[in-house]
Amino acid sequence: MFCYHCQEAKKNKACDTTGICGKKAPLSSLHDLLVYVLKGLSFYAVKAREQGIVQPRLDQFTAQALYATVTNVNFDNAEFVRLISEAVQRRNALCKELLAVYQQQDSTFEENPPEEALWQYEAIDEAAFIKLGETLTVPSLEGDNKDYHCLRETLIYGVKGLAALIEHSLVLGYEDKAFYDFIHQALDFSLTEHSLEEALAMNLRCGELGLKAMALLNKANTEIFGHPVPTKIHTDVWDKPAILVSGHDLQDIEELLEQTAGTGIDVYTHGEAVVAHAYPKFKKFFNLVGNYGGAWQDQKNQFAKFNGALLVTTNSLQQAKKTYLEKLFTTGMVGWDAIPHIADRKSKQPKNFAALIEQAKQNPPPTLLTENTITTGYGLQSLLALKDEIASAIQAGAIKRLIVIAGCDGRHKERRYYTQLAESLPEDCVILTCGETKYRFNNLELGEINGIPRLLDAGQSNDFYALITFLQALQKTLGAANLNAMPVSFNIAWYEQKTIVMFLALLDLGVKNVRLGPTLPPFFDEDILTMLTEKYALKGIDTVEADIEAMLAGE
Ligand code: SF4
Repeated sequence: MFCYHCQEAKKNKACDTTGICGKKAPLSSLHDLLVYVLKGLSFYAVKAREQGIVQPRLDQFTAQALYATVTNVNFDNAEFVRLISEAVQRRNALCKELLAVYQQQDSTFEENPPEEALWQYEAIDEAAFIKLGETLTVPSLEGDNKDYHCLRETLIYGVKGLAALIEHSLVLGYEDKAFYDFIHQALDFSLTEHSLEEALAMNLRCGELGLKAMALLNKANTEIFGHPVPTKIHTDVWDKPAILVSGHDLQDIEELLEQTAGTGIDVYTHGEAVVAHAYPKFKKFFNLVGNYGGAWQDQKNQFAKFNGALLVTTNSLQQAKKTYLEKLFTTGMVGWDAIPHIADRKSKQPKNFAALIEQAKQNPPPTLLTENTITTGYGLQSLLALKDEIASAIQAGAIKRLIVIAGCDGRHKERRYYTQLAESLPEDCVILTCGETKYRFNNLELGEINGIPRLLDAGQSNDFYALITFLQALQKTLGAANLNAMPVSFNIAWYEQKTIVMFLALLDLGVKNVRLGPTLPPFFDEDILTMLTEKYALKGIDTVEADIEAMLAGE
């Protein structure tokens, strides 16, 4: 086993016996084999597109399968065996269609298909798949050019993050062929060695499309659920049995609220789901009563204290403790064997949450964790409504700097840095945030500047699009040449692959002095770090005091 996908890789190098996230070696091998087959599938998909052959279901499948390999999404070996066999079957069918077209033209492949495009299984056999996957670990793919290998792996993780964003929109009925085109191009690109410049360019393109994928998800969410409005959310508890929902999927939350309305069951949000409270369409549900707990890494403790039924919708699943295992359900691409899974929608009919609701009825109300309020809902429209006030405050010197502290939360104690940073920033700084990093500081009383809150939370990690679009609009109002000429600093807390997309998007925008923490990715070697430092002034985090001083100086 070798996995260094995420910020919590063992000793910031790689998980090599079992994953800190709970991923076991056999599952890691199945992930590696699935990515191997998807690369071969993309070899044909790129050539098929040149011939005008596009299979929409194959494109969606590719994104869904990649998304399943994102950290903390799916731990079910059987699901990966199914995905690998489906990938091979879809790849073979596409190859056959492509060869038929070539035959008509009396031509064939310009280059021999790689082994990723040729491998066939003798039988659908989990043990055999695992054995083959063991030979396909990341180091085994290294080749002679270690630096290229680093950028190729960065691209693969970026594409996995992009695939997650694509899937979040797809479940709402929104998609864009350009994203699938790029996924196939990137996987096909990874099959052969390229120059570092070419590999960096592909990574930047991944960042560019990642921001566009966030824009599409923003369009989907706001067209269906309305534009989020700033909303104060209670974190205390009520006296009814309840369901706790964790993850990004707003449609799951809506259907669950419809099915629980009038049943005496309350619904609470957890983690990234908190932003649901800010969307107008959810305001009519009186049984959406509050947010319980914080970020994903605290779920073992918080799920146990919640007492009621639990639903994980898009990612951030951890191995369940016995104390709440029988109350836990998954849905969508999330899964763990032995945890009941709520099936997908069929023919646009809502999911059936009856088993989850029944489970909730049998349990006592939640145990109180905290009794404060948190505020979210500064989505794009709400941020733009504040733009002129913020511009005036900057021009008058009342706001000295905007500090973007966005991304994921995680287990490492070094993440206390983000709390201390928010506490220690001078009172003339405003924090812009999104994603679960906010749970490090969204309970602080940070006050206001001329009526402008010093903490503006856009919502989920994909709402990074709202922050960037707002900053670009502010840039125009202030007459700044680009984002680097603005009084803004980016301090990105990464954990999994969607934050890699966030980071690549900033590089694509040419943003310099981005801080990436709490540790730099283990898949950047010294040479790549030097390259990114020279080109983009990329930084890790330092002490809070040193970073504040540097950020205020525009570094
Ligand atoms: Fe380790 Fe992260 Fe990979 Fe899990 S996803 S095995 S924690 S590097």
